[in-house]
Amino acid sequence: MKVKNIAVKSKSRTEFIDITSEIQKLIDNEGIKNGICFLFVPHTTAGITINEGADPSVQKDIQTLLTRLAPQDLNYLHREGNADAHIKSTIVGVDKFVFIEDGRLVLGTWQAIYFCEFDGPRHRRVVVKILSDD
Ligand code: ZN
Repeated sequence: MKVKNIAVKSKSRTEFIDITSEIQKLIDNEGIKNGICFLFVPHTTAGITINEGADPSVQKDIQTLLTRLAPQDLNYLHREGNADAHIKSTIVGVDKFVFIEDGRLVLGTWQAIYFCEFDGPRHRRVVVKILSDD
């Protein structure tokens, strides 16, 4: 399969967006049964993480800690005003992989895949590559 793009539209400066069902939909549409799904965020002020999908306060706690590590108003050299977002992107990372078994993403019960916006609102994308071993 060629790489596919999942469009993501963030609504605020910092926001975690659950993209699990979008990725599952792509796997369903492609008819992939077993393989590995690579996810890549081609942005310098966003990231991707896999974490708690049930309690939204976990996402808020992660955002709070990241903001404590990289406050928006430090005396950064990067003068675009979004140095904190670049730093958060590097801390969180821009790539993940998830196995696919019997047509389903192999995730823990409480896990969800989140696109992490750090300099929104913006139109973003997640690049997806699936390697099938069927
Ligand atoms: Zn910048």
